[in-house]
Amino acid sequence: MPLEIMSERLYLDRFFQDWHRRTMPPDADGIDLDFIGVCHSWKCRAPIYAIESTTRNNKPTTILKRLATGLGCTGIVVIHDTEKLIDFQVIYSPHEFQIPHEVQVEARLTAYLEALRHIHDLTHLTR
Ligand SMILES: [Zn+2]
Repeated sequence: MPLEIMSERLYLDRFFQDWHRRTMPPDADGIDLDFIGVCHSWKCRAPIYAIESTTRNNKPTTILKRLATGLGCTGIVVIHDTEKLIDFQVIYSPHEFQIPHEVQVEARLTAYLEALRHIHDLTHLTR
């Protein structure tokens, strides 16, 4: 089943992608991260995970790993096509656990992100 387009206007709005390709100098190394999940607590708001999504199975992950390490959060690459999630890879994490691979990828990613948030919730008030 194709992913639902939440907003046709935003889906068609490629302003940022076009802008940074047109405007940034050719030697400006960088990535445009897709999502940084943060703590729900307004007193904390610590980053819990950083996600880069891609359709490329072998996308370089060096910068994402450096960012996640520096932020002390989990860095995840989500691989997708135009219709569904294909897989995800944990590039760096301060936590050691896995969701069983028998679980369907979308449910596995959701469970993984919820587990990261739960781990954070158990510790964030003691920092
Ligand atoms: Zn927190």
